[in-house]
Amino acid sequence: MKNYSFLVNETHLLPSDYHPQKLVQAPFTAEKILVEEVLAKQLEALIYFIDGQNEIIVTSGYRDYFEQEKLYQDSIGENGLEFTQQFVAKPKASEHQTGLAVDLGLTGVENDMIAPTFEKRLIVEKFLKEMVNFGFILRYPKEKTDKTKIAYEPWHFRYVGTPHSQIMQGKQWVLEEYHEFMSYWSGKYVQ
Ligand SMILES: [Zn+2]
Repeated sequence: MKNYSFLVNETHLLPSDYHPQKLVQAPFTAEKILVEEVLAKQLEALIYFIDGQNEIIVTSGYRDYFEQEKLYQDSIGENGLEFTQQFVAKPKASEHQTGLAVDLGLTGVENDMIAPTFEKRLIVEKFLKEMVNFGFILRYPKEKTDKTKIAYEPWHFRYVGTPHSQIMQGKQWVLEEYHEFMSYWSGKYVQ
């Protein structure tokens, strides 16, 4: 079984030519947004399960190294360095380069390109309650910014697959903590 729970952050960089396995058109958007096939399938199943197909939209998916670089530089110009460092991952440190991350927004509201609106609606509560059963995690929670080094992003979700998502929720761990735990145990047994 393929492992989708690998860690990508500022200390676990992707090679600049890293490319996802199989990109497909993302569901729930009229724009051309690509995501890894497994994410598309699981997101579709999840959103139909909670009956959110008329309320939830995908605003961002796969971005290659060069797009992330451009986004980062453009954001510095438009929003300043401080905002950018808080909300936009540096090239090679972005989960969007894996094709396993999506940003979600809601219909009927304005969705900012970097920070779409995904809160304060019943459908969001349903999504957050069911997502782990479909392999998704809220990647940058409010109370874990010291671990993730990224500000709270209520719109950014990462596909890690089950049971990883369920274990992480059960332990209240972000991916950094899960990864630490996994490396500890693999180090203990694989010698
Ligand atoms: Zn994102």
